[in-house]
Amino acid sequence: MRKLGIYVQVPFCQTKCTYCNFHTGVVATARFAPYVEAVCGEIRGHRELLRAAGVGLGEGIFVKARSQEWLSHEAMVDTVYMGGGTPSLLDPAHLQNILDAIRVTFTGELSEVTLEADPETIEAGKAAAWVGAGINRVSFGLQSFSDKELVAAGRMHRRADIYRAVPILRAAGIRNISFDLIAGLPHQTKESWRESLDELAGLVPEHVSVYLLEIDEGSRLGKELLLGGAKYSAGAVPSEDEMADYYEMAQGVLRAAGYHHYEISNWAKPGFESRHNLKYWRREPYLGFGAGAHSFSGMERWANAHDAAAYVTAVQGGRLPIEQHERLTPESALEEELFLGLRQLDGIDVGRIERDYGVTLTERFDPLASAGLVEREGSMVRLAPQRLSVSNEVFVELLR
Ligand code: SF4
Repeated sequence: MRKLGIYVQVPFCQTKCTYCNFHTGVVATARFAPYVEAVCGEIRGHRELLRAAGVGLGEGIFVKARSQEWLSHEAMVDTVYMGGGTPSLLDPAHLQNILDAIRVTFTGELSEVTLEADPETIEAGKAAAWVGAGINRVSFGLQSFSDKELVAAGRMHRRADIYRAVPILRAAGIRNISFDLIAGLPHQTKESWRESLDELAGLVPEHVSVYLLEIDEGSRLGKELLLGGAKYSAGAVPSEDEMADYYEMAQGVLRAAGYHHYEISNWAKPGFESRHNLKYWRREPYLGFGAGAHSFSGMERWANAHDAAAYVTAVQGGRLPIEQHERLTPESALEEELFLGLRQLDGIDVGRIERDYGVTLTERFDPLASAGLVEREGSMVRLAPQRLSVSNEVFVELLR
């Protein structure tokens, strides 16, 4: 029986971080309940809503078989990821309602249920209620342990909040905690980055994600970098070379601390790899609910409209506001196999992909192997671990 992941988008935050380009907003808390009701309505009525919106789920979620036939299976849900935004802002009863809606609508055993949380939102009562609702993994947007960097990035929490929040979660029974760090925040230095990594390792989370700061003109920091100004400390953003050094430092510190590097941006203690996120890189099916949530059935990708108010109005009116809907061609599916699969450090089975898609890939990989950017072992190809900070070059070359 194939496994299905469920993603729930909660697009609300307390403030807007300076580097953020996500479709999230700061709204009155009175808007939370109608949003949650709409999400629960979408979950319960997803088959009819999708059918009316022209998305073909058929008898279940479609998965691609080795023979290149498309088969339908009634999939079982095993992972749920509530992300955002800051879903930990919601009342625990809201989160419980969402999980209840999933349980009554889908078959399966929810073995990994992740909640994204910001450290300042953690309280003992909330944490206990989360565990009671079935949440067993908390992913923390820490970004840094330096207050100077957190202030400049517009984050609400401070270093002390991290040290306050982790014991609360542990006492509530959360045995799987993930920390996110960002390399490249304004005012970050080699020394402050090393301190953040050491402090992170000292708290022994089961999972770690390290992202390089993305400079996007959709964020206030990105605009300042492009147009000039001093409000968001754009002048104090580390260079690309420094960010690459920070990434490599993270590789060393996390390896020494016993973490397994399993995806370009992700490390885990043995057995704590994110089962939900692995579905994205392995092209396994997932359904997304909420404003802006993305879904993948194995043969189609689609996304709901980003505007939360418009989403609520549409679902209340019995309609799903889908704004992107793509049926994959064999060519686009092959591209996904390469750029998603190669993000995993185990690499891809090129022989299997060649058989499935009827293509020859050897010539594409030859120059990359000669340049030391990828490594080959039998039919497996993987990014060279010591060249991961330039992985974009590999993807550009491969998809040319
Ligand atoms: S908490 Fe996350 S989603 Fe919210 S504003 Fe900050 S970066 Fe964006």
